[in-house]
Amino acid sequence: MSTQRAGRYAPSPSGDLHIGNLRTALLAWLFARTTGRRFLIRMEDLDRAVPGSDSRQLSDLAALGIDWDPPVVHQTDRLATYRSVIDDLRVVGRTFECFCTRREILEAPSAPHAPQGAYPGTCRDLTSAERDERRATRPPAIRLRADIEVFGVDDLVHGTYSGAVDDFVLQRNDGTPAYNLVVVVDDAAQGVDQVVRGDDLLSSAPRQAYLATLLGSSPPAYAHVPMVLNANGIRLSKRDGAVTLADLAADGVATSTVLSRIAHSLGLGGRDEPVTLPLLAGRFDPVALPTEPWFLTADEWS
Ligand code: GLU
Repeated sequence: MSTQRAGRYAPSPSGDLHIGNLRTALLAWLFARTTGRRFLIRMEDLDRAVPGSDSRQLSDLAALGIDWDPPVVHQTDRLATYRSVIDDLRVVGRTFECFCTRREILEAPSAPHAPQGAYPGTCRDLTSAERDERRATRPPAIRLRADIEVFGVDDLVHGTYSGAVDDFVLQRNDGTPAYNLVVVVDDAAQGVDQVVRGDDLLSSAPRQAYLATLLGSSPPAYAHVPMVLNANGIRLSKRDGAVTLADLAADGVATSTVLSRIAHSLGLGGRDEPVTLPLLAGRFDPVALPTEPWFLTADEWS
């Protein structure tokens, strides 16, 4: 795969994109295209993929005017690569098998100073006899053997951010490679050096950046952008009613209006001003980006 500089948008094709996803995608496109980068789309379809939703997501992005550099990568086509990276880490002693249930992890006493929710190390040093015994009861997940507890990243919105790194999961116990592994492997393979995504993922960035260094690549520049929340301050979801382009079109809201409102929420245009992506690219200034979430209510469309 190419190593030319790139930004990307990496949706999970689990249904139609909602306004929050579309706004993040637009920001990822603006960050990439205004810095001369390629813009890639990667379908994170290892989990909860709904057949057909990848092509619906692509047509919604295109309807907003977002373009991308082909090919669109699907993670389900890359399982052999993920397995070989996990195997390389295993060979150098960087992994261990973990038999813990979620509940055992929550209930285990955590190490002094360990951040809340960090893996308590239960299976880190099992003997091979102990491992054999546990394998008979439960298939193992594979965890990274981390040798630090905190790692710092540079974020274009949040500045320097330090966060916890624990022995996080690389492969789930159903055999599926885990998000924190595949995101790092794919970003490196695709030449992604700029990661723009929702700020709900900020706390995952230290783990991912640390893993990137272990795999011999430089962590990307991050921009964790504010999310779209509903009137109750909760992350927007399909339960909030008309939040996709198709729902809004059915209510008589044109895609061009949706784009105007998203641009307005980012300080890039008037509420009813017709805008195009090249126009927004000309106005985009990452420093002036709002740092607060956008509270979206049904009044937005009236
Ligand atoms: N697939 C993730 C999502 O849809 C995004 C992962 C990422 O950008 O690193 O929330």
